[in-house]
Amino acid sequence: MKVGILTIGNELTSGKTQDTNSSYIARELQVQGWPVVVMMSVGDDHAAIKGALDHILALADALIVTGGLGPTADDITTAAIGRAFGRKLYTDEVCLKHIQEIFKEFRLHWTENNAKQALFPEGAETIFNPVGTAWGFSLRVDGKVIAVIPGVPAEVKIMLPEGVIPLFRKAFPEASRHVATRIFKVFGISEAGTDKLLSDIDLEALGVEIGFYPDFPEIHVQLKARTATEEEARERLARAETEVMARLKDNVFGYDEQTLEGVVAELLTERGLTLAVAESLTGGLITDRLTDIPGSSKFFERGCVTYSNRSKTDLLAVPEDILKEHGAVSEQTAVRMAEGVRRQAGTNLGLSTTGIAGPDGGTDEKPVGTVYVALSDGKETYCRHYDTFRWDRRRIKVLSAQAALLMVKRYLKDEIRHEP
Ligand code: AMP
Ligand code: MG
Repeated sequence: MKVGILTIGNELTSGKTQDTNSSYIARELQVQGWPVVVMMSVGDDHAAIKGALDHILALADALIVTGGLGPTADDITTAAIGRAFGRKLYTDEVCLKHIQEIFKEFRLHWTENNAKQALFPEGAETIFNPVGTAWGFSLRVDGKVIAVIPGVPAEVKIMLPEGVIPLFRKAFPEASRHVATRIFKVFGISEAGTDKLLSDIDLEALGVEIGFYPDFPEIHVQLKARTATEEEARERLARAETEVMARLKDNVFGYDEQTLEGVVAELLTERGLTLAVAESLTGGLITDRLTDIPGSSKFFERGCVTYSNRSKTDLLAVPEDILKEHGAVSEQTAVRMAEGVRRQAGTNLGLSTTGIAGPDGGTDEKPVGTVYVALSDGKETYCRHYDTFRWDRRRIKVLSAQAALLMVKRYLKDEIRHEP
């Protein structure tokens, strides 16, 4: 089954909004094993929409449309599709009631143009929107299926899997396969290095496909099994997972939707441990990531951006002679920063970063990309020196934050002692 994607909106064709719906939808369809043969964007314009529909339906069996389902005059997708296929519009009473209830619940003022969102082309079936007033619809035209959903990305992320994919499965049963996927999140080895470690696995014999998706600074390795039954897909995946983990070991920090900060947060919460962070070159990135986690106040006590030498002595009590003798970017300073922030905050753990993000400030001895990360638990302080971060300023900061979070994860999983 070939699929086309059409995104509609003047905000897209004017360059104001980037079309992220197409790439998201394409990825989700790829997992289903349905190839996307065409993606187009047009403005809120009758002729442009009609032209796009004709073009795409000549190439694809099914079409997903997003955007232009709002209540205002500039959103014309429903009317344009109705006109293109000679279908009058009708009011769906169930949808209308749902919209009116939302207005009541949020005490919004009802204006007549809101009833426009309950209009659908004749012959259409509605697609429920659990998070908004813009319901979608599906329409069959000459054996092809068109599914229309709103443009708001958060609504697409709910209505595509809940509304559109089940509809397509029903409409094209012969193209339906059960798909199971597993993503391994890797940090610390390169894409090529990861590939090499896995190269001796006979994936074909295991009946799974593999994909490498670098997502800086991580590598995401995806395994996919596509079979007639869900159980068989899961079994294949489980067998392949054992093989992958035997090779990647603790270079995998998480799976699927997990993030490194999420894994760290979970481990800290589980153990009832608290953390304070002193950041120099990372400038708050670690703190930002950890505080993105709901409930982070349970384990996160403080994050200090101690950029200058003076702030390192003032806030973390790093001795001035350490800074003078070894420099702000040194193992000795990183260690004293981690110990200092831990002591001042009264937490179980203290984490620190210091380094040279460039592009200036590097020397022969300490080139740009020299980074120290330290973690203190009150008994011992672990420090790791990185000298291979040869990137631009932003990426050196991102890598350093990642390395620091990884150090906490390794400590909590008792993996730190095996480090070189
Ligand atoms: P609409 O459904 O056309 O009213 O779109 C609502 C909002 O969703 C727009 O203002 C955009 O910010 C966003 N949006 C619409 N289409 C897309 C798209 N293809 N990709 C990303 N965002 C979009
Ligand atoms: Mg719009």
